[in-house]
Amino acid sequence: MTYDLTVLIAGGGVGGLALAQGLKKQGIHVRLFERQPEGSAAGYRLHMNGDGGTALEALLPPHLFELYLDTSRTDPEHERLVFLDNRLRFLGGRPHLGALVRHRRKDTAVNRSTLRQILLSGLDDVIERGEVVGFEEDASGVTVILADGRRERGDVLVGFDGVHSRVRAQRLPEAAVVDLGLNGIYGRTPLPPDLQRSIVPELLDGFVIVMGPRLLENGVLAMGAFTPRVPVAEAAEARGLFPDLAPVGPYMMLGAGVPESVWSEVGAEPADASPEQLKAALQVLVRGWHPQIVEMVDRATPGDLFLTQLRYVDAPESWTASRVTLAGDAIHGMPPTLGVGANLALRDAQVLAGALVSVRDGRAASVTDAIGDYEREMRSYAFPLLRRAITQEGSASGFTPRGMLRLMRMVGVRRLVRAARSRKNTVGRLVGTEQKRNHS
Ligand SMILES: Cc1cc2nc3c(=O)[nH]c(=O)nc-3n(C[C@H](O)[C@H](O)[C@H](O)COP(=O)(O)OP(=O)(O)OC[C@H]3O[C@@H](n4cnc5c(N)ncnc54)[C@H](O)[C@@H]3O)c2cc1C
Repeated sequence: MTYDLTVLIAGGGVGGLALAQGLKKQGIHVRLFERQPEGSAAGYRLHMNGDGGTALEALLPPHLFELYLDTSRTDPEHERLVFLDNRLRFLGGRPHLGALVRHRRKDTAVNRSTLRQILLSGLDDVIERGEVVGFEEDASGVTVILADGRRERGDVLVGFDGVHSRVRAQRLPEAAVVDLGLNGIYGRTPLPPDLQRSIVPELLDGFVIVMGPRLLENGVLAMGAFTPRVPVAEAAEARGLFPDLAPVGPYMMLGAGVPESVWSEVGAEPADASPEQLKAALQVLVRGWHPQIVEMVDRATPGDLFLTQLRYVDAPESWTASRVTLAGDAIHGMPPTLGVGANLALRDAQVLAGALVSVRDGRAASVTDAIGDYEREMRSYAFPLLRRAITQEGSASGFTPRGMLRLMRMVGVRRLVRAARSRKNTVGRLVGTEQKRNHS
């Protein structure tokens, strides 16, 4: 026996759209409410791992999954996290976090807005403009309440509405957004073929972290190349899809941890910095570093840079399942330092879609049983990564002995120990009781 189900989704980010695709593919009635359907996808390159890729393969129709692979980045020579010093000498490297990519063509990174356009395809009858402001739940279903006064009924409500989730505020009011009080500059710079050929090959590996000459005292610059397999707009056209899929040229994603001294020199408070001041801060950060890094920063367009604040969701360890559930950043929002948030949101979408199919097919005892199974599984894979992201545990593992020696010579043993201690203390203090807790 099968049951008719209507699934309501709040939020059409990477996770909500993927869930809608997966449910539609399974013939389950789904309605998605997004406050900004025209898109606000801030950000550029998304590092992908096997969790995200496997989920997309399961959730998307085959032609869209192939298009996603077509528009993913070319295979790097080594797929790993690489540490370099500021003269671009190799200090070490380690595998990325998350499951390994299994596909015939590796999907190790994708352009965020391209992925969004692919995920939107075929969902015109599913997506509705609407800001979710609350819900009412009873034994037979759930009613979602929208800012314009609409009330829409379904069997399940999924809060896929990001780190400041309205659904979470009502469903788990004890969960809070914790501001780590740290920020970074995020952006991109063009990576034309001549530059790709001339830069050291390590810069084109999976993901690169360049250490400032005095390590944390002088900041770090993370970089990730995005070089699409085929020109993005042409890939879509070749499959007879998306005549208007936006073209995307190759670029290097930049993410910088900028120390206080840099902001003082630029004469700006991070939160008030203009795009030009963000670029100036990057230029001060890399002054005296290897000329290839200086050149890449110099080529960046100020309008492509923005400030990102580090925060996370402090959710309870467990809760009783109901018809209203949470997924993605709404329940495990974390700092982007591990590059796994979107992959986890996609995995949530896959696991939750499987649970809802089991309800529809009569294999689950009840809606809340199936949702409880999803929530238990989600907590088991996502919460350990969230803890890791906020404590930075193991983030520096992977240095080779020679790299460690070089680092010690570069920084001085005493300074290295001091930097490690102060970092540990900072993080320790930040994850303690002094954090700013925003209930939202
Ligand atoms: C700088 C940066 C770099 C990152 N890099 C990576 C990376 O390389 N790899 C990776 O895996 N992750 C990365 N992440 C994390 C990743 O972006 C997030 O984890 C991911 O976007 C979460 O997806 P989501 O669908 O849960 O939420 P979101 O993408 O935040 O989507 C939420 C959606 O809900 C909508 N919404 C919000 N409130 C409402 C409401 N009340 N009603 C209706 N709609 C609403 C929003 O408009 C939005 O569209 C990065 C994050 C940042 C900030």
